[in-house]
Amino acid sequence: MTIFETLSSLGYGELHFGRDERSGLRAIVALHSTRLGPAIGGSRLRAYATEAEAIEDVTRLAQAMTYKAALAHLPHGGGKAVLISPPGLGTPSFDAAARNEMFRAFGRFVDGLGGRYVTTEDSGTGASDMDVIRGATRHVLGASADQGGSGDPSPLTALGVRRGIEAIAHDVLGKSDLKGLHVAVQGVGHVGTHLARELHQAGARLTISDVDAARRQAIATELGAAVVDPDAILEVECDVLAPCALGGALTEALVGKLKTRVVAGAANNQLRTPAAGRALHDKGIFYAPDYAINAGGLINVAEEFAGYDKDRARKKTLAIYDTLHTIFERSRRENTPPELIADRMAEEIIAAGPVKK
Ligand code: NAD
Repeated sequence: MTIFETLSSLGYGELHFGRDERSGLRAIVALHSTRLGPAIGGSRLRAYATEAEAIEDVTRLAQAMTYKAALAHLPHGGGKAVLISPPGLGTPSFDAAARNEMFRAFGRFVDGLGGRYVTTEDSGTGASDMDVIRGATRHVLGASADQGGSGDPSPLTALGVRRGIEAIAHDVLGKSDLKGLHVAVQGVGHVGTHLARELHQAGARLTISDVDAARRQAIATELGAAVVDPDAILEVECDVLAPCALGGALTEALVGKLKTRVVAGAANNQLRTPAAGRALHDKGIFYAPDYAINAGGLINVAEEFAGYDKDRARKKTLAIYDTLHTIFERSRRENTPPELIADRMAEEIIAAGPVKK
């Protein structure tokens, strides 16, 4: 597909390219939609085999941000940035000063977009990079807490996932709380660990896994959880399977082997293909759409617009319960997989336009 064909297939939008000779910056900002407000989306730093791959990644990710922000009832559109990993990144020749220079140049690039795109952290970037970007533009969120930012988003992402699980446990399993519910958590990294703690506190029984053996054992000991090897976690017999590792965990072939009633976790893009979603629906397994249930981190960072207030961010994140409940009801009524219902709901919110104040 040509670039314009890609943009038109995703309902775009703008694509901006920025380079800086001195620092080696090569960045692409995709602005999918600003219909509901300034577009928010993280800056991803990674190596790409080709420029076409970078364009495909950034355009798809930005589109997903539009849907995620809309469904979370945020006055924001969707955008995303990728920074193509410069030669030498991670080696002594590309030290902290060189990294900072690149992020300052990126900050100037973002500033030139005049606030229609507001950046934040994503894979490969962190709060300290946001602090550097902040030196060049005010259109950045997620700086460190000691810099007045909202800091690490994963606790609120986990809170939202826990609320989503509560809603679905109620609607699908007829449970009024999480006591005794068996949850299998794939990946106990930033979000998975917070989620496991939330679930443990609520009385759930846990089975966990992680490719990092020391990490999974430490969390299992802390929470009294059962632990299994990474290749076994997805097939554990449980009430809820919570993918919190990488995307694409759910394939059509895997669905046949699942022994759960519900899939509800934090990972982005859990369904490898649309057919995997259809297979889950046909098998009677409820899939909590990833961008609906994992919106807590975005809600948290978006709070910085109004002056960050942790309690307000928590309160808005708790509402993920209602979103999941509505998705469940519509999915049942319309006999349509939940991820398609989530898309419909987001599209309805976007079509209705900005909320009048
Ligand atoms: P992370 O890198 O801190 O944690 C991921 C964990 O999964 C790591 O501990 C890793 O060792 C483990 N892992 C990787 N492959 C595995 C496998 N095959 N089996 C078991 N464990 C495996 O990342 P994170 O910030 O916790 O994010 C987790 C997921 O949630 C990602 O998909 C991310 O995109 C998504 N997400 C995160 C946030 C957030 O606030 N951090 C917000 C929205 C969505």
